[in-house]
Amino acid sequence: MILPIYTLGDSVLRQKAEILSAKTPELDQLIKDMFETMYQADGIGLAAPQIGRSMDLIVLDISAMKEGRATSPMVLINPEFLDKQGACSMEEGCLSVPGINEFVDRPEIITLKYQDENFNTRTETFSGMMARVIQHEYDHLQGTLFVDYLSAFKKTLLKNRIRDIQRGTVDVDYLLAEK
Ligand code: ZN
Repeated sequence: MILPIYTLGDSVLRQKAEILSAKTPELDQLIKDMFETMYQADGIGLAAPQIGRSMDLIVLDISAMKEGRATSPMVLINPEFLDKQGACSMEEGCLSVPGINEFVDRPEIITLKYQDENFNTRTETFSGMMARVIQHEYDHLQGTLFVDYLSAFKKTLLKNRIRDIQRGTVDVDYLLAEK
């Protein structure tokens, strides 16, 4: 089932998400729906707050991108960083902030502890596009959006677009939650 996506201005995107404790049929269904929603919207990552659920849950799949060909779809539950190293600047966009793409500086290499869809605990190190997407999605679980990192000057330049997103007067090819 395709789920509506919440956008900048919706309070669920500003809450700290809650830890998940157990695999349930409802959670399995939600994960399926999140993948379906993400693929339909041509996204490469989706965090539960973006579909209105304040839960520590992320789905991602960068295999359609050149850099991600060797990767598989992933589910990250209750992620936490054990280490971050380096720095790099990459352009980001977000299904919750449609029409805005801007460069953001973040650590280049991350070590992440998380649970997979079966609640098995894993520790893995990621770099490149994978590290970038995970950090962006992790931010959603903390109530942070990538536009929060932009300079005051950039935000001023984007203020009309941001206002349109907050009002829900944007035209996108996927389902948006009602404002
Ligand atoms: Zn996002």
